[in-house]
Amino acid sequence: TPAFDVAALRRDFPILDQNIGGKPLVYLDNAASSQRPRAVIKAISDYYEHDHANVHRGVHALSQRATDAYEGARDTVRRFINARDVKEIIFVRGTTEAINLVAQSYARPALKPGDEILISALEHHANIVPWQFACEQTGANLKVIPIDPSGEVDFAAFEKLIGPRTRLLALAHVSNALGTAVPVEQFIAVAKRHGVPVLLDGAQAIAHAPVDVQALDCDFYCFSAHKMLGPTGVGVLYGRQQLLDAMPPWQGGGDMILTVSFEKATFNQLPWKFEAGTPNISGVIGLGAAIDYLQGIGMQAIAAYEQQLLEYASTQLQTLPGLRIIGTAAHKAAVVSFELDGIHPHDIGTILDTEGVAIRTGHHCAMPVMDFFKVPATARASMAFYNTFEEIDRLVAALKHARTLLG
Ligand code: PMP
Repeated sequence: TPAFDVAALRRDFPILDQNIGGKPLVYLDNAASSQRPRAVIKAISDYYEHDHANVHRGVHALSQRATDAYEGARDTVRRFINARDVKEIIFVRGTTEAINLVAQSYARPALKPGDEILISALEHHANIVPWQFACEQTGANLKVIPIDPSGEVDFAAFEKLIGPRTRLLALAHVSNALGTAVPVEQFIAVAKRHGVPVLLDGAQAIAHAPVDVQALDCDFYCFSAHKMLGPTGVGVLYGRQQLLDAMPPWQGGGDMILTVSFEKATFNQLPWKFEAGTPNISGVIGLGAAIDYLQGIGMQAIAAYEQQLLEYASTQLQTLPGLRIIGTAAHKAAVVSFELDGIHPHDIGTILDTEGVAIRTGHHCAMPVMDFFKVPATARASMAFYNTFEEIDRLVAALKHARTLLG
């Protein structure tokens, strides 16, 4: 098999070819948002130059074209995650909105006082707060599966926590704060035995390995386009058709209705029942182009290369005295969270920026994870397939520089 041609792939990403403070940019903040290849940018500008009109309502040519492109992208998404039907693909603003939709339209009507929603201690705030809302609204309780010091979700504790009152398990597929790849299949198998539906937060998984919702046997899967080479402000809720059919609409407005009088409205069928208002048409088209691009490389190839980057980064970072990697699960995505000699991560990030190296510092919207490891924040390098081994070396050199300045 040919070597992964990262140099050729990088040429597809114009933004990577720039200097920051006189030094070539090293972009290692991919878990927050990835960059876009020209093919995605072009798909969006082509759409605006040639095909834009509102979808679904027009008989004229442009509206037909826009609708075909929008609905075509839905089928691209369906194939990408191997959903059975396009009815199961709901376009939303992102992972956050997808989870809120399920919390309000699936969980809230189903929850009775004393019922339980189960999450883990490594969730992003987007997979915590919507459940807190649903619990407050219904008198249900939020239960949390603990994590262990390596950043794994405690499976034995989960088996004890799940029970007759559990109404839903909502779990990260991959942790954004630590990189832990959660062995969700095991959790799902147990949940199924208890008849408990499972939502996966796939925000950090979708761009880094193949995802097959049928093989996973999950009931909901949520992700954001902007973390997988697509535009901001658009994402996907996958839901099992049977569940989506039974759920009431979440937001009311145009496109989600069949008929409206002042007494009553009847609702459109799936997937439009959940897509009130003019959608992010260009964003959806950009997402479709992003998926085409990812599939052109191959998700297996991407996963394999990123694992090499992860291994190299973990090994090289550990050569730095005083550096502690936080999150050492056996299976991880290419995310390395760390602290260095007690230097505040914000200061590390600031110095790294002067070296052209972009990392994220902070709580990564996962404050309970920070609490568990008793740190206010971490520095986090998160990689994509367009990163190189040389860039990891640049990261390590910049950290050495930061240590001499601040240590
Ligand atoms: N879940 C996880 C695991 C994430 O990493 C993120 C983004 N940082 C989100 C949810 C929220 O995604 P978005 O902001 O795109 O809605």
